[in-house]
Amino acid sequence: MLETATVTVSIRNLSRSFGQVKAVDGVDLDIFSGEFLTLLGPSGSGKTTVLRMIAGFEKPDSGSIYLGGKDVAQLPPYERDVNTVFQDYALFPHMDVLSNIEYGLRVQGVEKSQRKSRAEKALAQVRLEGFGDRKPAQLSGGQRQRVALARALVNKPSVLLLDEPLGALDLKLREQMQIELKELQREVEITFVFVTHDQEEALTMSDRIAVFNHGKIEQLGTPREIYENPLSPFVSEFVGQTNRITLAGKQINLRPEFVTISKSSKSGDRSMSGVLRDAIFVGASTRYLVDAENGDTIVSTRPIGEIQVGDQVQLSWESKKEFLV
Ligand code: ATP
Repeated sequence: MLETATVTVSIRNLSRSFGQVKAVDGVDLDIFSGEFLTLLGPSGSGKTTVLRMIAGFEKPDSGSIYLGGKDVAQLPPYERDVNTVFQDYALFPHMDVLSNIEYGLRVQGVEKSQRKSRAEKALAQVRLEGFGDRKPAQLSGGQRQRVALARALVNKPSVLLLDEPLGALDLKLREQMQIELKELQREVEITFVFVTHDQEEALTMSDRIAVFNHGKIEQLGTPREIYENPLSPFVSEFVGQTNRITLAGKQINLRPEFVTISKSSKSGDRSMSGVLRDAIFVGASTRYLVDAENGDTIVSTRPIGEIQVGDQVQLSWESKKEFLV
């Protein structure tokens, strides 16, 4: 983050319970102007409730939310300088695409010709020129998603809140939209707060990630920091895969892609022998499961040379890639 970055959303000691469930438990978070910040966590960890409180759909039990320096706790959603994009898009089925996009401007009393030119610009931003007179039912899932985005962008909010917006798309389209959405965010320079439970999606798109667990932020950092230096067992297991290895009486953690496996050669200042138990093909890579000499099962995705199940093998890695949590 630039040192000159200004804070757009500031959250302090935010809490919200539903009956016995502490959905959000004392959250502090500063979100910078123009950043792509992701709230990542398993189902039920409180991410959506935080997003809904920023939007104004849900009231905090305690704590504060500042938007652009202004305390918004008592303001209704429409008086906050934010827009929300939902997973189910929430488009009006009886209106064509352009009218859907214009809707917010019409409510604000923006005059007709301005409405049209702003809506057309938003359509172009999401690469849907020429689709203005279609009805939502005549669009694919990905196109509907873009209309929902355009409808939010046209209001030029200072913050866009996105609640699992790609959740309804199939994997291929989802991956394509991740890249498009990130590019769009750079282009429009609006602060994006994005909710997902998908760690790969979070790593791909975010400037920073807040990892949620049981209503609290367990770690906040760049994708690289979160992946390479997880500060708790929960974060290391939720974000990526981790080997837990016993070394000289200590437990260390190591990502599978940093473990080399070979019949003879070594790479790195640590090594261990073992027997290759299984090789599991998972598309882009193969996961090699090794019964190591210390009794642990270690997973590697970096083979050197030919190896067969049952072979005696060497595992090796750089000690600087190990992390303790
Ligand atoms: P998901 O990815 O499944 O949406 P989440 O991390 O966004 O999960 P929240 O939706 O914020 O989690 O929910 C946090 C907790 O609060 C959950 O235990 C949930 O059941 C509970 N909760 C959320 N909204 C309500 C509500 N309106 N009434 C009762 N309980 C609720």
